[in-house]
Amino acid sequence: MQELQRFQEGELRIVNEAVAIAEEITSNAYKISSAEWRGQRYDVKTLTDLTPDEVLHDGPFAQIIRYVGRKTESSLSSSKYDFYKICLQDHTILSALKKFPELRLFPFTLYIVTHELIHVVRFTKFLQAFDASAKEKIIEEARVHEKTQAILRPTQTPGMGAVFEFYRAWQGPLDDLRDME
Ligand SMILES: [Zn+2]
Repeated sequence: MQELQRFQEGELRIVNEAVAIAEEITSNAYKISSAEWRGQRYDVKTLTDLTPDEVLHDGPFAQIIRYVGRKTESSLSSSKYDFYKICLQDHTILSALKKFPELRLFPFTLYIVTHELIHVVRFTKFLQAFDASAKEKIIEEARVHEKTQAILRPTQTPGMGAVFEFYRAWQGPLDDLRDME
């Protein structure tokens, strides 16, 4: 299999920074505590930490995979919980940066991760079903883009205007949502 391009060290630093800011502004917007949330309800991973099943060869910049977790602290407890893995597709993000030179890694990743976190918040708050109909998913996608921009606009992040512009013009595939055991 052809080796996919992945984020290099300097790029990973930028991506990590973007993830931290995305978490902060999303948790502020929804008034949730991100410290409790990360690792328990979701995680954000790049290509290096994805299994072959979590990699998309062409398509969206990220996908969300829902895993069912089981609480282990009590052997009597059989309670299950949903865990969402946000899988960033390094190669697709990097090829978009190459193709659209006005896009910059930091604001672009900030947008992508904020967008995915909003999906996760809406799933965990039951504002949206993970396994909604195709039509409902399209409506939700528009809603999430709108909310992403509403949260990001006041941050006045350099380069974010170009990202908004990109999404206005882009008719790419929706995020992939999948269940895995
Ligand atoms: Zn989406």
